[in-house]
Amino acid sequence: MSHANPNAIRKIVIVGGGSAGWITAAMLSHYFQNGGCQVELVESEEIGTIGVGESTIPPFLQLIASLGIDERAFIQATQASFKLGIRFEDWKLKGQHYYHPFGAIGGPIGPHEFYQCWLRAKANGHPSELQDFAPGTVMADQWKFMLPFRAQRSLISGASYALHVDARLVAKFLRDFAEARGVKRTEGIVTDVVTRPDGAVAKVVMKDGREVEGDLFIDCSGFRALLIGKTLNAPFDDWSDMLLCDRAVVVQTQNVGDPHPFTLSRAEDAGWRWRIPLQHRAGNGYVFSSRHLGDDEARATLVRNLQGPALMEPMFIPFKTGVRRRLWDKNVVAVGLAGGFIEPLESTALHLIYRGVDFLLRFFPDRDFDPTLAAEYNRRMVADYEEIRDFIVLHYCTTQRDDTPFWRDVRQAPIPESLKERMALFQAHGVLREGVDEMFRNPSWQSIMEGMGVRPRRYQQLVDTAPYAVIAQTLDQSKPMLAAEVAGLPSHGQFLAQNCPAP
Ligand code: FAD
Repeated sequence: MSHANPNAIRKIVIVGGGSAGWITAAMLSHYFQNGGCQVELVESEEIGTIGVGESTIPPFLQLIASLGIDERAFIQATQASFKLGIRFEDWKLKGQHYYHPFGAIGGPIGPHEFYQCWLRAKANGHPSELQDFAPGTVMADQWKFMLPFRAQRSLISGASYALHVDARLVAKFLRDFAEARGVKRTEGIVTDVVTRPDGAVAKVVMKDGREVEGDLFIDCSGFRALLIGKTLNAPFDDWSDMLLCDRAVVVQTQNVGDPHPFTLSRAEDAGWRWRIPLQHRAGNGYVFSSRHLGDDEARATLVRNLQGPALMEPMFIPFKTGVRRRLWDKNVVAVGLAGGFIEPLESTALHLIYRGVDFLLRFFPDRDFDPTLAAEYNRRMVADYEEIRDFIVLHYCTTQRDDTPFWRDVRQAPIPESLKERMALFQAHGVLREGVDEMFRNPSWQSIMEGMGVRPRRYQQLVDTAPYAVIAQTLDQSKPMLAAEVAGLPSHGQFLAQNCPAP
């Protein structure tokens, strides 16, 4: 007896070949490698891609692993470097900095969460800083690197890492991967989208008259949002009142000196500036509010602070912060910038692409397009976007800066109710709501809160059941132990040269 579903999706069309298009194509080609569904990707070299998604978070490596790609080969091919977290400068106040490391901060003491024990120690006057116990931070601060899993039985094994990547090389790598697994690539500009009587998309029409038909369409056309926006008009939740930046100027530079194993984010007069060192060059950008700063000044600030010779003319990218409430509408699923965007402060966009395709595969429809699948998909994905929005707003709404009109306006900007609730719970007891689906774990929220000067009014009372001497002794021993372990590691530059040299 055959189980084949006569209604199964037979053809998927991906419109767009930026990071979103090729990540989607790679994941689908891996999934359908034994046939069953044809995948065609349409892109236009003339239009080009945005090409700036360079900083990632640890689950990006899960994506690579889930495709069966060797991590080291990927690093070499994409000239990637390692990222242990983000260093934030001048965010709370000018002259101050803090880290958001990946991975653990300390380890549980008995049954108690490390953070709660540390809070109790602080209440007792202990001199340590929270980040003294974060292996990611201690390594990042000394520009050292070691793969955490190679450091078994060591405090370093609690760290986690992600990559800094060259977006164009990633797209090329994944294109080769997808094409080798049967994805058909079609070059050309889509000029028209034809819909069926029920409003779903039937086909896209190219400038030269060619037509590409499909059952399911993935809109990876970037900010143009050809299908989900221009054709289906899916409503967009605009969050630009909560996050004031709406423009970026970016430039690539030659590398000078050793690469730092973290993304640098430095708050500026009207936004923030990043520096991301790869193996062969560095990426730089200034994300700013066009209401508070003109293009000439933004470019001048970026260029003035570059650390190496520029490899291109600075390029401006306007953006709108928010998300489509229906990322999946009829037979169209928007992945990447077509679906929504939140400024790249925590490097989450590439991850959202992975999540978007992962959820699509979990809720994969047939040609009936049961609306309950789309509804659940939209609920899960919008929850991700909202969580990221809240996490990014946290970096702004806790600032103590009031030295420019931008920072004064930031302090007046509305705060989402969900973030207010999260902060109230945290400030009362240091407790965070952590669910299985949450993207950022407790140490991430704790790092930003502590870095921005938000400390709970008291620790959780259960921690009083632990003898204080045990807590103090653990802190007193682990800080110098971790520092000594890190001191013996290779620098990030040495590690890259020894383990992942350019081919
Ligand atoms: P695009 O790269 O714009 O690709 C769109 C594709 O659609 C292109 O192939 C284009 O040719 C095609 N297309 C469009 N119209 C047509 C048409 N009519 N016919 C045919 N083809 C068409 N993300 C991170 O994870 N980390 C970061 O550090 C990071 N930094 C960022 C910094 C800035 C300033 C910005 C704006 C974004 C950043 N992002 C970052 C986000 C990241 O760049 C994007 O999420 C990612 O590149 C995906 O883009 P995309 O593929 O959706 O769009």
